[in-house]
Amino acid sequence: MDKVAVLGVNFDNKNFEQFKNELVKRIDAHQSTLIVTANPEIVMTANENPEFMKILHSDADYITPDGIGIVKAAQMLGTPLKQRVTGYDLFAWLMQRANQCKLRVFLIGAKPEVIQAVKAKVARDYKQIQLVGARDGYFSEDLEVVAYQIAKTKPDLVFAALGSPRQEQLLALLRRQDLPALMMGVGGSFDVFSGMVKRAPEFWQKNHLEWFYRLVKNPTRFKRMLVLPKFVSKVRQSKKERKKL
Ligand code: UDP
Repeated sequence: MDKVAVLGVNFDNKNFEQFKNELVKRIDAHQSTLIVTANPEIVMTANENPEFMKILHSDADYITPDGIGIVKAAQMLGTPLKQRVTGYDLFAWLMQRANQCKLRVFLIGAKPEVIQAVKAKVARDYKQIQLVGARDGYFSEDLEVVAYQIAKTKPDLVFAALGSPRQEQLLALLRRQDLPALMMGVGGSFDVFSGMVKRAPEFWQKNHLEWFYRLVKNPTRFKRMLVLPKFVSKVRQSKKERKKL
């Protein structure tokens, strides 16, 4: 199955290698591409926000299962997905690719000190990247104005770390103009990439407990996690409805 639907969001059923191969082709062809890496929270937001759901349906070229919650839900629905493909892993790989191919990269999002640290890391470890823009995510301009500023720099890759759905709203504006770039919302990835926030150690990642690690490190995330039991109950309901069909 090419696509797997979880609560109305159509996930691409590809493993990491398949995603990489397709993305390389699209980058080389300068094809306008919007990638959304969606976790249960994003799926729930889309179910409550029709405009965001429209972006997922009409603007996104790829939707990847970001997190074990989506993989489990697909399994429960009897339509398993091949693999979890996290936003951070894709981002880290795309930055390496950008370095190898001397690509033009625009980074937007995170706190000013985080984006400064990201800039320093790029200058130190990714010398071949042409950083055409790097700005924090705490701006007051309209997204249209910011989208215009990004487009002007003619980037090959645009990463937005503003949180969802704002990062996808910004990137959808550029996708609708067919900006010949690969664009992806990356949530908290700049925080991790900069080294300011630690990613869960491998043991936690392997055992699919990354979410729990982030909760322990940052208990204010608890409120956001209350959406997870709602997600599970909606998936159960969706399973019952599918059986009736
Ligand atoms: N952020 C931002 N501007 C805002 C609000 C948030 O740039 O107005 C950044 C925030 O600093 C963080 C990222 O957006 O780097 C979102 O992180 P979050 O943990 O919400 O993302 P997740 O990985 O959970 O999707």
